[in-house]
Amino acid sequence: MIESVTVYVDEAAVVHNTKLLRKTLNPNTRIISVIKANGYGLGMVQLALLSEKMNIDILAVLDVAQAIELREGGVTAPILLMGATLVSNFELLIKYDLIQVLIDYDYAQKLSDFGLEHNEVVKTHLKVNTGLNRLGMRDYDEIEATYNLPGIEVQGIYSHFVEAQAYEVDAVEFSKAQISEFKSVLKRLEEQGINPGLTHMQNSPSVLHFGDLGFDAVRCGMVMFGLFHPSQKAYADQEGYKDVVRLESRIAMIRNIRKGEFVGYGRSFYADRDIRLATISAGYCDGVMKQLSLNGGGVYINGTWCPILGDIAMSQFMVDVTHVACEPEDVVMIFGGPQQTIYDYIAITGQSINELVSHLRYNIPRVYENKIFD
Ligand SMILES: *Cc1c(COP(=O)(O)O)cnc(C)c1O
Repeated sequence: MIESVTVYVDEAAVVHNTKLLRKTLNPNTRIISVIKANGYGLGMVQLALLSEKMNIDILAVLDVAQAIELREGGVTAPILLMGATLVSNFELLIKYDLIQVLIDYDYAQKLSDFGLEHNEVVKTHLKVNTGLNRLGMRDYDEIEATYNLPGIEVQGIYSHFVEAQAYEVDAVEFSKAQISEFKSVLKRLEEQGINPGLTHMQNSPSVLHFGDLGFDAVRCGMVMFGLFHPSQKAYADQEGYKDVVRLESRIAMIRNIRKGEFVGYGRSFYADRDIRLATISAGYCDGVMKQLSLNGGGVYINGTWCPILGDIAMSQFMVDVTHVACEPEDVVMIFGGPQQTIYDYIAITGQSINELVSHLRYNIPRVYENKIFD
């Protein structure tokens, strides 16, 4: 079935971006593909299966529900959970063969106790807090003690940057302090004869900013999916990274309204002239947020700019097509086409790039184009 709203994903561009990422990295550095939030809006299961075809080493999602969706979708690659799993769901870690992040020492003990009780050794990576203060351990003695807990196996250790996309002197100093704190933890572990396991710290912005810092793996999402912070977009273009995602809808109906009529909830637009008006089948429930209409945004129909009239509603909005040859069911390009890139679009809405893609309604069909693999 063709639906009115569709997210198009350029598979060849994802493959191209991933190859560029690999070229940036040392030959032995492994890639952990981060596909949380429905794969940054691009379709988590589809991206996971594509990642497997690209020989990605590990997939990372937030929670056990996402991991189960991957396993049920046929994904066999190792899966790292980067968020906390509720104690009552620990058994699912075993059932679906998942790698759980250890978020603090108490949590590591609980998981180890669970492993002992069930005669299992639970696979884990240890998170080190180097300043984000979201998840992770900072006390060295607790980190070291975690490696000795009997019911878990610490297969890896990682930390996470706070603002690697920032180039101001104090921000870069902060990033460098994070790197040296993480490295000193690794050094102390090695001095104690402890094998830290797979080490990883770098996300996409840090790879673009610092190159490969020499850890065993990188944990990237954005760069492969053609999503960049404004501070790094020009550099990414120069390196040859490509845009990946496009959102389209369709015209539902067209009508003529007379001067003096209103359009939309709250009479939010007043017609000071006769207007030919098209109703579009998309709204804020799909991820087309009200800010687009409030800030003077529009869409492209048959290559022509059509301003939005009135506020965007939950599943529909209206645009001015007085000047456009068009008919019902014509395609409406909301963002991701050449005339309105995702970056043009967020300049209007004020969203961050990740906010935009992660708000695309979960069950909008994701159609992969320019396919490289069958
Ligand atoms: C989202 C996330 C990543 C990936 O970040 P990108 O900027 O998309 O590369 C890596 N690590 C953690 C802990 C994350 O939450």
